[in-house]
Amino acid sequence: AEDQLRQAQKMEAVGQLTGGIAHDFNNLLGGILGSLELLQLRIAQGRTEQAERYCKMAIGSGQRAAALIHRLLAFARRQPLDPHPVDVARLLEDMADLLRRTLGPAHRLEIAAAADLWITRCDPNGLENTLLNLVINARDAMPGGGTLRLEAGNVAAGALGKADIDPGDYVWLSVSDSGIGMSREILERVLEPFFTTKAPGQGTGLGLPMVYGFAKQSQGHLRLASEPGHGTRVTLYLPRFIGEPEEQATSRIEAARHDG
Ligand code: ADP
Repeated sequence: AEDQLRQAQKMEAVGQLTGGIAHDFNNLLGGILGSLELLQLRIAQGRTEQAERYCKMAIGSGQRAAALIHRLLAFARRQPLDPHPVDVARLLEDMADLLRRTLGPAHRLEIAAAADLWITRCDPNGLENTLLNLVINARDAMPGGGTLRLEAGNVAAGALGKADIDPGDYVWLSVSDSGIGMSREILERVLEPFFTTKAPGQGTGLGLPMVYGFAKQSQGHLRLASEPGHGTRVTLYLPRFIGEPEEQATSRIEAARHDG
């Protein structure tokens, strides 16, 4: 019975997946076909300037469709995670430039990591992708500018206040924005693959499902809190690394070197 349930859940997820893609892809295809029809018309009329415009629109929609499929494929064949000891404070430092470039000039970036931050154990590349996803969402939620705050600290499992949580220590890492926030209805759906409120081609609806998958695969947890009109806070809990003293904590760059 449990197998059947799991199978049913899997089918439901596949249904959501294909339905979502079909919808987005169809929108983009509609844009391409519409532009091409107008292009044909303008060529027949000899209006080359307008024809060029529709050419550009068709190419733009085509590129967005390609990007959608590209991300879909990346999602389908996600790399298995390769956990390492990770110093989150250093990873944040290493990523600060990239994150600042991801944000606009009207956004303020604040980073605050606890001085005695524990070492965590997770895939450093996965954590980078996760952070980037969250920062892009935060940026998109603050079209008129605002503050993005990255914070990290330690928490004992008992203090998480959840009975279903593995005992042990966690490092938490939160991404907070002062953006538009989410209604309860949206918040309840954001972990569904392909759920997005963004314009076609702008969002894939895969960001938060991937973030959630990363948290689960890392034996961690994810918490979302949001208030419409005020902002959103996403907190990732990653297990504390307790290992051999000679095993060094790595930032992404060193982890990549270890891998050869
Ligand atoms: P995408 O960003 O491609 O839409 P996500 O899964 O990352 O996909 O997010 C799903 C939806 O959740 C977004 O379309 C948006 O409505 C909402 N969302 C995510 N992050 C935030 C945020 N920081 N502030 C407000 N809404 C958000």
